[in-house]
Amino acid sequence: MFLVGILCAGCGGQDAVEFTGQRAWQYLNAQCDFGPRPPGSAAHNETVRFIAGHLKNQGAHVTLQRFEKRDPYSDRTLELINIIGSFSTEADRRVLLAAHYDTRPWADQEETDSLRLLPIIGANDGASGVAVLLEIADLLGEQTPKGLGVDLVFFDGEDYGKDGDLEHFLLGSKYFAANLGGYRPVCGILLDMVGAKDAQILQEANSLSRAGDLTTELFRRAQELGLDVFVARRGEAVYDDHVPLILAGIPVVDLIEFPYAYWHTLEDTPDKCSPETLRQVGVLLTDFLYNFSF
Ligand SMILES: [Zn+2]
Repeated sequence: MFLVGILCAGCGGQDAVEFTGQRAWQYLNAQCDFGPRPPGSAAHNETVRFIAGHLKNQGAHVTLQRFEKRDPYSDRTLELINIIGSFSTEADRRVLLAAHYDTRPWADQEETDSLRLLPIIGANDGASGVAVLLEIADLLGEQTPKGLGVDLVFFDGEDYGKDGDLEHFLLGSKYFAANLGGYRPVCGILLDMVGAKDAQILQEANSLSRAGDLTTELFRRAQELGLDVFVARRGEAVYDDHVPLILAGIPVVDLIEFPYAYWHTLEDTPDKCSPETLRQVGVLLTDFLYNFSF
């Protein structure tokens, strides 16, 4: 057994990193401690500093992609920021991992009018995907996958639109997709609402129809790895940050639990989440980055 360990270390050690979920759990709580994080809030600024600082500490090349959008619901201008952390910038073959970090300004799925005006904490819807990507950044800081560049993209303004106003959802990913330049990752994975206790993540329908091979492969690997959060069954189609990227020609799979019982309510709080769900999602992503052939 000792000899095997030495041989593995000598052959590149692609399995040396381990996603435990413990750090992701801390990062989920740290974001929620800032309070609700809609665009324009002090907590939103704090979140930008938190994510960008974390990425820099792990050796990523960090870009803040700033843009403005007229706020359709007030007379102010929204200042929005996508945060991009790139590892192995010299690598031509790249993959994109993404999540949104903004939280919904209104709990519009609440029962009463007064509650519907309040902003949500977004433990699952916002913090969970970011938390997994920040622990992934820790692993990338320890060891990058051979010959593969990884871009962690944290979108702003995903959850800004009022009910039915699709134009004002996905602000960050729409801007990112419209300004790709020469950027052409092989594929991508989006995380959204990946932290609930006893989560059941189905195959999101847009992912199945537009990035079917990758969707099928990820769920097959999840089963092999014993990750029972993932259920290889067709789920609902969700209008999420992968859609602008798919329309720009990048196959992106959305790992999302939808519907979610506390979605867009004041009850979307850390006590409804679990480190075990974050761990399972992170283990699948780690396998994808370090063992997948692109
Ligand atoms: Zn949402």
